[in-house]
Order: sequence, then structure tokens, then C-alpha cells
Amino acid sequence: MKIKNGAEYMKSLRRLKPKIYYKGNRIEDVTRHPATAPHVRAAAMTYALAGKPEYRDLATATSHLTGRTISRFTHVHQNIEDLIKKIKLLRVLGQKTGTCFQRCVGFDGINAVYSVAYEIDQKYGTDYLKRFTSWLIEIQDENRMVVGAMTDPKGDRSKGPAQQPDPDQYLHVVERRSDGVVIRGAKLHMTGAVNSHDILVMPTTALDENSTDYAIVCAVPIDAPGITMIFGRQAGDDRRDKQEWIDSGKPRFGIVGGEAVIAFEDVFVPNERIFMNGETDFTGMLVYRFAAHHRANYGACKTGLMDVLTGAVSYLAQIQGAAKGSHIRDKVTEMIHLSETLYSSSVACSAEGVPTPSGAYMVDTMLANVCKQNVTRFHFEVARLATDIAGGFIATMPSQYDLKSEDVGHLVKKYFMGVSEIPVEDRIKIGRLIEAMTGGTAMVESMHGAGSPQAQRIMIFREGKLAEKIKLAKALAGIPQRKKAKKDS
Ligand code: SF4
Ligand code: FE
Repeated sequence: MKIKNGAEYMKSLRRLKPKIYYKGNRIEDVTRHPATAPHVRAAAMTYALAGKPEYRDLATATSHLTGRTISRFTHVHQNIEDLIKKIKLLRVLGQKTGTCFQRCVGFDGINAVYSVAYEIDQKYGTDYLKRFTSWLIEIQDENRMVVGAMTDPKGDRSKGPAQQPDPDQYLHVVERRSDGVVIRGAKLHMTGAVNSHDILVMPTTALDENSTDYAIVCAVPIDAPGITMIFGRQAGDDRRDKQEWIDSGKPRFGIVGGEAVIAFEDVFVPNERIFMNGETDFTGMLVYRFAAHHRANYGACKTGLMDVLTGAVSYLAQIQGAAKGSHIRDKVTEMIHLSETLYSSSVACSAEGVPTPSGAYMVDTMLANVCKQNVTRFHFEVARLATDIAGGFIATMPSQYDLKSEDVGHLVKKYFMGVSEIPVEDRIKIGRLIEAMTGGTAMVESMHGAGSPQAQRIMIFREGKLAEKIKLAKALAGIPQRKKAKKDS
């Protein structure tokens, strides 16, 4: 692996020249700009962990392509053990950063594209897998970070890609040349985009045969000509941007992953970086495999965050002298119970994984949908319980400037005291951490990341094998399976 640790990762980013805007201004160096640096540090943890003996087994893998040791984030899952190690790794990273460390999007994209490229080749005699693996070996050997770019803007939601008044609402091919294609469009909500090395472009939805220009999968360097990124705002970002170390709550790693719009204004992609080109019949499979992998992750990375939150409120209760209260212990118990239940579904969908025809392993899709659906509830319930335990204090604390003020600092220290041996600053810091982890943007991600709740409900119903369940019920009730019973089910 060329990039061996967090410092080398940051150095490698400084060598790139992506076009990134934030609040109307260009960001020249994402590793040092106060808006992006915390997110870079969170992603850097994925590199750092690989160098620590106690995590090496989780954070690295052996490439099935080269036999060399690689970051797990660039690995194609070869068995159930790989799927489970990934889940364990994500929980640890969630615990260590308390935020989204971004690198799993590209990881899941790599796994989805690998297995689908194999199946397209089988059907059409193309050579997508060969192209993809030669790109992937570069990614593995250099240990580059990939942003998986799937979500299109979608414009008028009542119309499909080919019917949009503005065809660029879905990323598409605008020119075909003998040596490659030119693409135009955008990808939204791109976690970790500004601090990735490469973009893996994928379609956003299943497409019909009228949308061949939209069925494009390809890899593009982050600073390719024609690419512009706009970094998004987050609740509380002013505190982060002003580097208010106490008030920002989680100063080292940021509030949540750090998302950007990636605009592709006529970007040329050479043939060797194209891994699907018009095979619309495989788009649904690709989108679903990617989504299922990512939904499985959420039960692990978000459990890591819930562990931190549980620790934060427990500590706050301790330093306020309330930890022994039976109602506090009961609420903390419920937080732990919900976290472990969520994690169970993440482990379960991995343990029930199956090989695809390519040999790459897939999680169980039903259980992965259930896992992400649980995130949209349990993380919110855990945040509600944390807010309940923490009290109104987390919404009304004076700022760090008042804490340090010569005029009023003594009042803050006097009236925000908990147990006498703990400094007030510690109580405020842990309060700010809870505020940051239960507020706006952090929670929206748990609702909509890896697909909004409705997306999982559609798949849960579709894969729910209702006909089989009806059969079970009829058998037990002594109702014969009549021919026309098929209609009933
Ligand atoms: Fe990884 Fe979780 Fe962030 Fe998705 S939300 S990129 S799974 S840390
Ligand atoms: Fe996410």
C-alpha cells in the first residue's frame, strides 16, 4: 500500500487540484481549510487504523487479485468472514471518530460494480471486469480513497431520466468517441467527495431501454477537467469553521461526513475506465447491490456513534451526580439495548451473505433493508433518550467565550457546576458533544443515508415472500392449497 497512514493520505490529497467551492469561495487545500479538515481527519482514521497491530486484521485484507495486503476499504468481499470483518471495522471507526468516516461509499461501489461487471460480460461478451480489475489494482496498490457517486438530482420526480425537460438532471453520455465518452450531469450528497482521489460513477436508478445514455459506470479522477464540487453546509458549521474548539462539540472530526455536489460538465472518460455503457438491464441490479451493502453498514457505523452517545450521557450523569438514579440507569440500558439490536441486524445480514456469480459476496438483502430501517428509528430513539438524560442544559449552555470571559466567566463556572471535583469546562464539553451528536445534520444522515426509509420498505415488502407465509398459515389452519389459492396470495 503506497499510502500507509493518515499523514500520507493528507499529503496525497495536497498533490491533487480539485475544483471545490464553499460559501462562494474556492477551497485550495481540503486538508487545512477549517470547513473540510475535520472530515479529512475522520477519513484519515481509516488509514491510521490499518497501521495499528490491534486493528490490522480488521482494517486490512489480502487482495484476491494480487495476493498483496490492501486496505479493507478497497477489497472485494470473498466470503462471509470478510463481510463480518467489515461490519466490525465500521463500528470501531464510528466509536473512534463519532462521525461518518466516508470511505465506505466507494467500498460498496467497488463491490457492486465488480459483481455486476462480471455478469454483464457473461451476457454480452464485453470486457468490463478486466477493465475494472486493472483500475481496482491501482486503487488497492496505491490505497486511494474512492467516492461512490450514485445519487442524481432527478429534477421532476414524476418523469424518468429520458423525459426530463433538462436531460442533465440524470448524469448521461453526451458524446461518444472511438476512444471514450463525454459525460454531463451531477451527483448530489456525495459523502467524502472533496477528500477522495477518484470518483466511481454509477446510475441512480433502474433504467429502461430508452435510457441507454444514462446507463454509464465509469471511474474519473477527482480533479479531471470539467469537474466542480460545491461543499454543503451543516447545522453548527459556523462553530466548526471558526474553529471554536469547545462550542463545536466534536472539533477533531466534524459533525457528519461532509457532503458535496459533484458537477460533471462534459468530462471525458477513456474506454479503459468505462465499466458499463448502455446495458440498462443491469442497472437495477447494480443500484440494489450497492444500496444493500451500504444499508448493512449503517447498523455498524451508527452503532459506533450510539456507543459514543451512550458514553457521553452516562458521563454527564456521573458528573452531575445523577448516575445512580434508577430512571437514568433504565434509559441508559435502553440505549445499549437499541444499539446492540441494531448491530445484530448488521451482523445478521453479513452472516447470511451469499456469493454472486463473480465469487464476490453479497449481504442478505432483506436483512440489510431491515437493518437500515432500524437505523431510521433506533438512532433517533437513542438520541431522544440522550437528550432526555442530558436535560435542557445542552440547548442553553453559554458559549466558550463566556466561559473564558473575565467579566462573566466566574458566573458560568459557579452556576454550571456539577459535582465539585470536575471542572465546569468538562461538563460543557460533554454537553456540546451530545448537542452535536443529536442535532440537525447528524440525524438527517441516519434517516436518508443509504436510501430514505421508504426505499427500504418497498424492498422489504417485495422480498417478504408473502405467498410462502400465506402457505404456512394455511397449512397450520388446515386449509387445503387449492389451485386458485395462488390468486389469494
Ligand atoms: Fe460509512 Fe456510515 Fe459514513 Fe456511510 S454513513 S460512509 S457507512 S461511515
Ligand atoms: Fe452515509
